[in-house]
Amino acid sequence: MPTGPGEILELIRLGRASTRGDVLEITGLSRMTVAQRLDALLGAGMVVEGETGEATGGRRRRSLVFNSSQAHVLVAAVDTTHTRIAVTDLGGRIVADTEIDVPVQAGPSVVLDQIATAMTALLDKHDVAVGDLCGAGLSLPGPVDPESGRPSQPPILPGWDAYPVVEHLQATLPGVPVLTANDADAAALGEYAAGHAGVRSLVLVKVSTGIGTGLVIDGRLYTGADGGAGDIGHVRVAPGSDAVCQCGMQGCLAALASGRALAAELTSLGFPATSGHEVGELLRAGNADAARLAQRAGRHIGEVMATVVCLLNPEVVLIGGALASAPLLAGIRETLYRSALPRATRHLQLQLGTLAENAAVVGLTRLVVDHEFAPDQVNRRLRA
Ligand SMILES: [Zn+2]
Repeated sequence: MPTGPGEILELIRLGRASTRGDVLEITGLSRMTVAQRLDALLGAGMVVEGETGEATGGRRRRSLVFNSSQAHVLVAAVDTTHTRIAVTDLGGRIVADTEIDVPVQAGPSVVLDQIATAMTALLDKHDVAVGDLCGAGLSLPGPVDPESGRPSQPPILPGWDAYPVVEHLQATLPGVPVLTANDADAAALGEYAAGHAGVRSLVLVKVSTGIGTGLVIDGRLYTGADGGAGDIGHVRVAPGSDAVCQCGMQGCLAALASGRALAAELTSLGFPATSGHEVGELLRAGNADAARLAQRAGRHIGEVMATVVCLLNPEVVLIGGALASAPLLAGIRETLYRSALPRATRHLQLQLGTLAENAAVVGLTRLVVDHEFAPDQVNRRLRA
């Protein structure tokens, strides 16, 4: 393996090496070379030394730790009716956060202007300079083209197709790299980073106003040829149904089982709701109709997830988003296990995500840090 300082930093950052001895063993480099590369990383403040409890020959061995307080990341997780904005350290710990109510229906220019204003206010309030940011991330409830970083024909974001999101935000954040991601992808990466870093494959199903999934395979997001991987909300599950989806088609999974569909049904039952967020509030308040409808939605989602599970045979499937709840999980469990091959579910962990609304925030931080501290980037910066 190529083993410049950047590659060694990655071993430390991902928890594969925590002492000089580990680095020597994994890289096979000489003691002198490892010392030089670590000096460069320590000198740049990318790595810090701590004490380990173990003593060998009367000397304490120093541990090596990625310095997650060397810079900050600014993130915005956009949902259909509101956006969560946070400043985090490089490990995804939230330093400051705020939420703004702004419907994506208002269009990209209006929404991004409001996000930029709230970002500036949050940075000012907590005394974080734009120069202290190593990057920024923004997630959207729709497919994002991996090459351009622009929304790619998002069914529930009218007017956002191919909008230059990054360029828009860069005006407020001069010199700061801005990355974009689909919201379910960001949430999947966040849950992976926070609690499942050992697994080879993880799927997160986000059920909010819309429905989408994020896939993490071998520690990386899998987004597909044009960012559409995991966009299961518009799979036609009931071709004869007259339920019209926001995408304009009939019988989509989202037309039957999304927060938007449930909000309409709950409204007709006398419990007004307009978004997944509000359906989630009814669920948390113990509304029996919301629970019943969430379980039924789960059954529809489980049918589609059975195909996903048979295709990918993941170790972990997590349920996230505003509708994540015991009834939704019970419905998914019911049909997924009935429809999928036993072999595909034998070792499957199917459970609720643990980060709730913070999943996308933590995932966006990880996305930015993976990008800004990739071995090539680090090697280039240390040579400069
Ligand atoms: Zn649809």
